[in-house]
Amino acid sequence: METYDVAVIGAGPGGYVAAIRAAQLGARVAVIERDRIGGTCLNRGCIPTKAVLQSVEVHRTVAQADAWGVVARLEGFDLAGVRRFRDELVSRMVKGVETLLRAHGVAVLRGSASFVDPHTLQVEGEGGESFLSARNFIIATGSVPARPSIPGLDLPGVVDSDEITRLEEVPRSLSIVGAGVIGMELATVFRGLGSEVTVLEMLPRILPPTDKAVATRFLALAKRRGIRVLTSVRVESIELVEEAPGPKLRVNYSRVGKETPPSFVEAEKVLVAVGRRPNAEGLNLEAIGVETERGTVVVDETMRTSLPHVYAVGDCVGGAMLAHKASYEGEIAAENALGRLRRADYTAIPYCIYTHPEIAGVGLTEETAKEAGADYEVATFPFTANARAWALNASDGLVKLIYEKGSRKLLGAHVMGPWAGELIGELTLAVRLGLKADEIAGTVHPHPTLSEAVMEAAKAAVHGEAIHYFKRRRR
Ligand code: FAD
Ligand code: NAD
Repeated sequence: METYDVAVIGAGPGGYVAAIRAAQLGARVAVIERDRIGGTCLNRGCIPTKAVLQSVEVHRTVAQADAWGVVARLEGFDLAGVRRFRDELVSRMVKGVETLLRAHGVAVLRGSASFVDPHTLQVEGEGGESFLSARNFIIATGSVPARPSIPGLDLPGVVDSDEITRLEEVPRSLSIVGAGVIGMELATVFRGLGSEVTVLEMLPRILPPTDKAVATRFLALAKRRGIRVLTSVRVESIELVEEAPGPKLRVNYSRVGKETPPSFVEAEKVLVAVGRRPNAEGLNLEAIGVETERGTVVVDETMRTSLPHVYAVGDCVGGAMLAHKASYEGEIAAENALGRLRRADYTAIPYCIYTHPEIAGVGLTEETAKEAGADYEVATFPFTANARAWALNASDGLVKLIYEKGSRKLLGAHVMGPWAGELIGELTLAVRLGLKADEIAGTVHPHPTLSEAVMEAAKAAVHGEAIHYFKRRRR
């Protein structure tokens, strides 16, 4: 039986990063993966969805070509080409990670891992079962789509994000249950591909973890682009109805907190996107004494579980289910397993929602600032006052800063607009280092760039007004 310093279960962004970091520190490392290297992120999540989103963006750009004086004939999508672009990108990324693992001398074992005892794993693969032992383990087994108990969920045509991202066809109509990150990203994608899209959300607002005012502004833009959104509705059941020209899925819903008769929307397909649940099933964790709480592996801030030589990272430990958060934890676990001491700090984990326009944020929202009892102020700057945004023909959106009153220390930052995900890097560093708005305001930003909007919002925080935006003062 082979013995390793570190055995990592799962090769998503949590697991493969942990494996590489452990190998960099000189450890003998194995990673066990039962599916494709890269996990949800590379194969069913971040990467394929952004590839298709980019096809939609190109379509949108060409459709507006005359705005830039470009004559272009737009004939629509070649779905096979959209899939080819996506699949080639995914394959390139997967091969890249496989090459990195090989280059670092990480042993990649194919199969499903489970604990036999606290130091031994059984791996069941195509070639039968094998065993390995290790001094340390890092569990990085990810998450799976949550399945609410709604009657009709098993009907053909009712799909989750795994199934819909295979993109076999573009449905003429699509109902989406859940206006969270997946719901709104895929609403953007399928509306862009030409589907009639209706999103049904249980809460009174969309995109729950984001800043509410930003989400409200986004909702108005999404509706303008033809995405129908129903909030405060509870999906009661889904049924198949025979109707000309073909069968449809009827989503029956009621209004939350209102005595109104039940209503319904109909569509060719229904996407259920109501969250994901941590996946730690089948690992035999109870038997070896690793504590779990409703399916989530319990860890401390060093990513250690209740067994000192077993760590866990990424979606399976809960918290924000984001690829970069999984990788961050993966590095921490690898370093701690090999004798260093590093603690996870979640104050500056950014997020980016790849809608149109994009939304990105870091730190506190106004809602969480209020909940935390923070004495805060807000400054904003709109992209309508930014030259580069106009050059991109994309002036919808704003930069919003939340900062401590008096000291002007940044507590949170939220951007909706072109390349918001790229702009959030600077603000993430600022929040992480506890910088003040003054430091961003006093830093020269290149012109003409979108990043000037960040600087201008900071100037609005420091001076009460930005340079390139004039708000008439009340007399
Ligand atoms: P995973 O990526 O899920 O990897 C876990 C791996 O473990 C899998 O490959 C699985 O096969 C393997 N495994 C499980 N059990 C075993 C076992 N017993 N033995 C062997 N192998 C096992 N996040 C972002 O930050 N940005 C985005 O743009 C983004 N877009 C997304 C879009 C969609 C549609 C979805 C569904 C998710 C998206 N996410 C995004 C979330 C992101 O994909 C996850 O947060 C991330 O993949 C979590 O990484 P992980 O390593 O914890 O788990
Ligand atoms: P989510 O938690 O973001 O949103 C789920 C939504 O469904 C919520 O708004 C919730 O109120 C609603 N909901 C729950 N039950 C419902 C019901 N019965 N009827 C109607 N609405 C209901 O979850 P998600 O969108 O499924 O995404 C899962 C995870 O994947 C998230 O944690 C997210 O971080 C991650 N992800 C990230 C990205 C990104 O970073 N760009 C992209 C996709 C997914």
